[in-house]
Amino acid sequence: MSIDAKAIADLRSAVRGRVIAPEDADYDEARTIFYGGIDRRPGAIIRVADADDVRRVISVAQDSGVELAVRSGGHSFAGHSLSEGGIVLDLKDMRALDIDPEHRTAWAETGLTAGEYTTAAGEHGLATGFGDTGSVGIGGLTLGGGVGFLVRKFGLTIDDLLAAELVTADGRLLHTDAEKYPDLFWAIRGGGGNFGVATRFQFRMHRVDEFVGGLLILPATPAVVAGFMAEAGSAPDELSTIANVMPAPPMPMVPEELHGRLSVFAFLAFAGGVEDGERAIAPFRKLAPPLADLVRPMRYPEMYQPEEGGYHPTAVARTLLVDTIDEAVAQDIVARLEASDAPLRVAQLRVLGGAMSRVPPGATAFAHRTNRIMVNLAAFYEGPEDRAVREAWVVEFEAALRQGDAGVYVNFLGDEGAAQVRRAYPGGTWDRLAAVKRRYDPTNFFHVNQNIPPGK
Ligand SMILES: Cc1cc2nc3c(=O)[nH]c(=O)nc-3n(C[C@H](O)[C@H](O)[C@H](O)COP(=O)(O)OP(=O)(O)OC[C@H]3O[C@@H](n4cnc5c(N)ncnc54)[C@H](O)[C@@H]3O)c2cc1C
Repeated sequence: MSIDAKAIADLRSAVRGRVIAPEDADYDEARTIFYGGIDRRPGAIIRVADADDVRRVISVAQDSGVELAVRSGGHSFAGHSLSEGGIVLDLKDMRALDIDPEHRTAWAETGLTAGEYTTAAGEHGLATGFGDTGSVGIGGLTLGGGVGFLVRKFGLTIDDLLAAELVTADGRLLHTDAEKYPDLFWAIRGGGGNFGVATRFQFRMHRVDEFVGGLLILPATPAVVAGFMAEAGSAPDELSTIANVMPAPPMPMVPEELHGRLSVFAFLAFAGGVEDGERAIAPFRKLAPPLADLVRPMRYPEMYQPEEGGYHPTAVARTLLVDTIDEAVAQDIVARLEASDAPLRVAQLRVLGGAMSRVPPGATAFAHRTNRIMVNLAAFYEGPEDRAVREAWVVEFEAALRQGDAGVYVNFLGDEGAAQVRRAYPGGTWDRLAAVKRRYDPTNFFHVNQNIPPGK
């Protein structure tokens, strides 16, 4: 159901924040999300100012029967931060960050991006691990789990989540932590936006004042890819890596004759002393003469690369979890990437383990604690016909790489249907989440997400 003029008027008088409707000059900008190709026209976008605004927006949406989408950083692959005709509750203006350096904790409003939080925390020599991209919202990233540059050293983002404030479907603002509403606290650590609108998170912070990291670009032969994975798997926990096997982009640090050649475009992140870091990174440099080597002692926030505004790629993607990428698997990866003529295609390989794997699978709703490698496959497309070709390619690629575990990471899912969402929650996790959903959102009011319907 679409929002009508009366509901928009009700919203304008009810909230402290801003109501942006189709007739407003910045409407098109306000409805733009990170991914291109998702062109929905919400009836109203509400830039909430505080938790009271969140309660009011929920109440108007409930009373008028209008669909509600929730947006923090707007990076959902599935476009879940936009509604066609409904209301978008946008947390972009809720970006307060209150750091307590003495106790190494922070209360962060959920409209903050990973980059904003990390830059501010870095001023104190502190960090909480998020993902690999500064513009991603801490809202969506945290609620799905959060796998990034510090995953092996400190675990997932949710492993540093100490408490959260959340407005539930009945309009209550709940403070949840290990003691208060522990079922809810378990569910929001991986269960996404199914249980309410998170307004603030409290995070543990870590001292990360010595750090070695950056980009290492190697030629992508099967031996290099397999060697990289072997080194990353046996490296100390301080080292987390994200290796993108993809055509070398036309960047100034890559010699022009290598542009477009398949490369391992790898981010290395060593959260520890400089000498130990150099030692841990040395084997990667020996895999092949690097095409570019930008790994150096740096401040941790520098890991976030500058981003171009106005960049809205159209891409199809698949995510999976595997245990080994040996030379035979690497051979297949390289061959499939070579065979595609998509303008950009990538196999992103993230070696897991370390602190993340020491948390028991049942401790949080993100339960994939024992898988050793996360793989994300993506191809950019141009137009609907090309989309079908690229989608067939990623689907086939995914099927070829599966190694018995059907699991997926919810934050890398697109609009792939209910069966895929189910795979994000293995074992008893799904039933437990459905029971929590029934307790806090029995009518499935929060359904514009990777949805977990209420259990019977
Ligand atoms: C370029 C890029 C790089 C990425 N890199 C990583 C990475 O390294 N590691 C990783 O773990 N993930 C990564 N992701 C995936 C990312 O974590 C998810 O896309 C995440 O959902 C984005 O959060 P957001 O707040 O930006 O998105 P949004 O689109 O605003 O939200 C995504 C979903 O979360 C819900 N949601 C958001 N905020 C709230 C809230 N406050 N309360 C309730 N529900 C909410 C939304 O309703 C929606 O369903 C990446 C994504 C992109 C596009």
